[in-house]
Amino acid sequence: MAEINNFIKTIMQNDLESGKVDAIATRFPPEPNAYLHIGHARAIITNFELAKAFNGTTNLRFDDTNPAKEDKEFVDGIIEDLAWLGYKPTNVFYGSDYFDATYEKAVLLIKKGLAYVDDLSQEEMSKYRGTLTEPGINSPYRNRSIEENLKLFEEMKNGIYPDGAKTLRAKIDMAHPNINMRDPAMYRILHLNHHRQKDKWCIYPMYDFAHPLQDSFEGITHSLCSLEYDNHRILYDWFIEKCEMKHIPHQYEFGRLNITNTIMSKRYLRALVDAKKVSGYDDPRMPTLCGLRRRGFTANSIRNFILSTGLSRVNSTVESDALDEELRNDLKLKALRPNAIIDPLKVIIDNYPDDQIEYMDCPNNQENLELGMRKISFSKVVYIEKEDFIEQKPNKKWKRLALGVEVRLMHAYFITATSVEKDEEGNIICVHATYDPLTKSGTGFDERKPNGNIHYVDSKTAIKAEFRLFEPLMLPDNDDTKDLDFMQKLNPNSIEIKKGFVEESLKNTYPLEHFQFIRNGYYVTDKDSNESELVFNRTCGLKSSFKL
Ligand code: ATP
Ligand code: MG
Repeated sequence: MAEINNFIKTIMQNDLESGKVDAIATRFPPEPNAYLHIGHARAIITNFELAKAFNGTTNLRFDDTNPAKEDKEFVDGIIEDLAWLGYKPTNVFYGSDYFDATYEKAVLLIKKGLAYVDDLSQEEMSKYRGTLTEPGINSPYRNRSIEENLKLFEEMKNGIYPDGAKTLRAKIDMAHPNINMRDPAMYRILHLNHHRQKDKWCIYPMYDFAHPLQDSFEGITHSLCSLEYDNHRILYDWFIEKCEMKHIPHQYEFGRLNITNTIMSKRYLRALVDAKKVSGYDDPRMPTLCGLRRRGFTANSIRNFILSTGLSRVNSTVESDALDEELRNDLKLKALRPNAIIDPLKVIIDNYPDDQIEYMDCPNNQENLELGMRKISFSKVVYIEKEDFIEQKPNKKWKRLALGVEVRLMHAYFITATSVEKDEEGNIICVHATYDPLTKSGTGFDERKPNGNIHYVDSKTAIKAEFRLFEPLMLPDNDDTKDLDFMQKLNPNSIEIKKGFVEESLKNTYPLEHFQFIRNGYYVTDKDSNESELVFNRTCGLKSSFKL
């Protein structure tokens, strides 16, 4: 795997050399309100790889301070995805574990005259906040006495007030040029059951207040986050200082990762799941880590993709093809290459004995003979891809089967198509052919060159299979789609189902087993496979320009 190298690594190196820190401690802080997506992979890999480079530590911390959308299902999903990516957190913590300590720090700020209970409603507060060009206005409740604030805050905690009736705010400066410093909210009232704390609390701390304290409690040295928190850093430092935190963490921002044609926001991913536009968070079309896994991407391919995008203080947009390329690089020499026929056409070899069956030797991966050999069967009726046959050879470039034309069935014999059978509408039902026994694979026959090599699956041993082929979930951004809303922009053809066959050697395949289907692309076995039919998801093609 490529080594991580970026501006934050340089900062860490300098901090260690100057003695500013003794060791590197990072954390990955997802909110458990959805499954992780590939954008999160950038945050994960950055935090874990940087700490690893300096023998440091990385905690997984669930940022579970907003019970509204959080759920144990997502906690479990995040733990699974992280393990799959190959990262083991030094500790697993929950932001909610610090609720008592966070509450005490809020009381400390009230006692120092640096926080107050406000009765303004949400709308009033945003009106009072001012704009980028105009200063805000002080709330009429801003000058409550310390005693009154302590009493009101305790009452908030004791559940006396309904949601939204009161807010604890930091008392900073309503005219501050940075709007985040205009008396930001620290606690709000929410009478909701928390996935871990149950009904212990009805006040919940805001991210900007809770996060720096959590970083400090855990001894985090470098608190890495995406660029949108840039103008929150001043508030982060303010809370650390005013709360008299013993350990002082520092925040550093990096650019977010965007991928062409890919939705990268939990809100939209959740909307797709809720509206049943996809089968779930792990639908192979989803950019979630569980979706990409089910689609057939490997942890290696995702890690290498993320590392190849680099890291800077600018948001970046990367072509989704780059991930396919990493998958091909990862699996080229590792994956078995069995035969599969996605769109079958029956070929009857008239001069082959009816009940004969032969087993041919075939390498599992022509480019890596260490993966060994297997036997594939051959008999009178075989399936080939529909696109590998045409009645009349159109030109010299056609290197496949046609009437009167001889091709090699890979690892078997040369066959020549002799006639076709058609239905009433003129569709070809099957092709008749003859084979030449002298051309058996492995005998060194070299008297003629066939008009190309095509693959096949023997009908006597074939296993039925469903192939799921994917296109992007969203239509591309262009003039036709620019005014459409999100749900209208869904690609109606993002999935195509094909019914065909795979060779016998796949009978014991299991979910998430990767293959390169010869002359077709990379596929992975899906968990929907059953006794009567295997199901495979197409991960990507063999080449970036590849089209079926
Ligand atoms: P979303 O915007 O999808 O709702 P989020 O940022 O709110 O995601 P969190 O669970 O808070 O999701 O994210 C955990 C960490 O992952 C944060 O540090 C966040 O900055 C980072 N992260 C999320 N999306 C990306 C992205 N596209 N690129 C880089 N980092 C990201
Ligand atoms: Mg967030």
